[in-house]
Amino acid sequence: KKKRRMRIMGKAKAHAIMISVPHQGHINPFICLALKLASKGITVTFVHLESVHHKLLSKLGPQADPFSQARQSGLDIRYTTISDGLPLEFDRDLHLEEHWGAIMHDFPALVDDFVGEMMRSEPDFDYFLMTDTNYTWPPAVARKYNLVNVSFWTQTTMTFAILYHWHLLKQNGHFPCKGVDEMEEAIDYIPGVEPINAKDLMSYLKESGLVSIVTEAMSAALDAVKSADLILHNTMLELEPETLSALNQHQPNYAVGPLNFSKSLHSYTVSNSLRSEADCTDWLHSKPPNSVLYISFGSFVHTTKKVIEELAHGLLLSGVDFVWVIRPGMLSSDDTDVLPEGFGYMIEGKGLIVPWCNQMSVLSNPAVGGFLSHCGWNSTLESMWCGVPMICYPIAYDQTANRKLVIEKWKFGVNLCDGESLDRVEIAEKIKGFMNGAYSESLRQEASKLKVAMEKALEIDGSSDRTFDQFMEDLKAKME
Ligand code: UDP
Repeated sequence: KKKRRMRIMGKAKAHAIMISVPHQGHINPFICLALKLASKGITVTFVHLESVHHKLLSKLGPQADPFSQARQSGLDIRYTTISDGLPLEFDRDLHLEEHWGAIMHDFPALVDDFVGEMMRSEPDFDYFLMTDTNYTWPPAVARKYNLVNVSFWTQTTMTFAILYHWHLLKQNGHFPCKGVDEMEEAIDYIPGVEPINAKDLMSYLKESGLVSIVTEAMSAALDAVKSADLILHNTMLELEPETLSALNQHQPNYAVGPLNFSKSLHSYTVSNSLRSEADCTDWLHSKPPNSVLYISFGSFVHTTKKVIEELAHGLLLSGVDFVWVIRPGMLSSDDTDVLPEGFGYMIEGKGLIVPWCNQMSVLSNPAVGGFLSHCGWNSTLESMWCGVPMICYPIAYDQTANRKLVIEKWKFGVNLCDGESLDRVEIAEKIKGFMNGAYSESLRQEASKLKVAMEKALEIDGSSDRTFDQFMEDLKAKME
């Protein structure tokens, strides 16, 4: 501590060491946060996991450094990589559990060495940690190197609050949570969170959806965050005011988002997509306004061939035009024939199937009138930002909880159906009802109101902008 004080008096420059979880939905807001910090005059070292860098390299070549443009514009952002403990050729998308096993058990020692080495090689900075709340190691590293520990939660504040009060779930016999039929009563004791039913809880809290390593990681991470100095959330105050205020009774939380749309950062941004994007623009331009349904289930969840088949037939029956992202490797089985036989011919002119796209560019195209989404938090924010209503089909993780907020709290979406027992006729009816008429118009208006609220929050002196400034002040105070 004493050494740090001396450096502050000598005006050592603040230097953030930033490490995101290696998934697209975490990387996107992390990159925006790095740019935001650097634009406030802080030196940033952004550390990608080697596996992520490798994907960027094979897609972008020498342009893989996401900050080259920002650096040319004068921001002090350095970019480097670290191993997660697994060989590079290991298929992390296919073996999520083994991947998280390595992140839990092998990665912490590698980060510890990395931080120690960095501080030794450039001792004249005043370092602090800024890492994903999903990691368990930050308190130990912060303690060892005497660093301020900032945690960044990239999902909804509601899910954070539920996990933060995990002990209450245990006390009330709701962890692991039983099936919907066995537990009718709502969970109504999480401070700042509206009563929530079992079906809406995060999958890894439910008996049916427990994945031991994910549950273990989340539980340890949410214990670890209790010793964080400051906690950032990629949301805005207006979306979840009660939840944020209840959390602030315990620790300082800052709603500084959604950083993804901060106009001041746009000039620095380069593509951070880990996959090549198909261009849908020409196809969309040939379609009337609000007529196309965009369908995507995010960057990593898997689903079954049966689900894809029923959706495909449901879409055909609905007669609605669509763009559908079907990622290679999206099925939980090794099956490579994802779509029903002859589907490509059947949808000629009506549908476009792509392996990956620039989602923001698709959602902001005037032809797109609805988003059939798995309700990942980034996708939800992007839908709001583009004023596009959602039809929700959550698959796992926090997605069911996000759906509850979209439908019940923010009211710009409807439900498609629950679980894997989909029926093509029902799907077709739901999609037709969602895309046509006065109903979709009322949802669109709600989405547009949220878009305006977001723009205001991000403007100079808007709630997120002011909260970021407050965060900067509190950070400086902690570092003194
Ligand atoms: N995304 C994209 N192209 C696609 C599908 C998804 O760029 O074809 C992006 C999307 O814009 C979002 C991210 O991938 O920013 C997915 O994050 P989200 O939190 O929605 O879901 P997750 O992948 O974490 O389940």
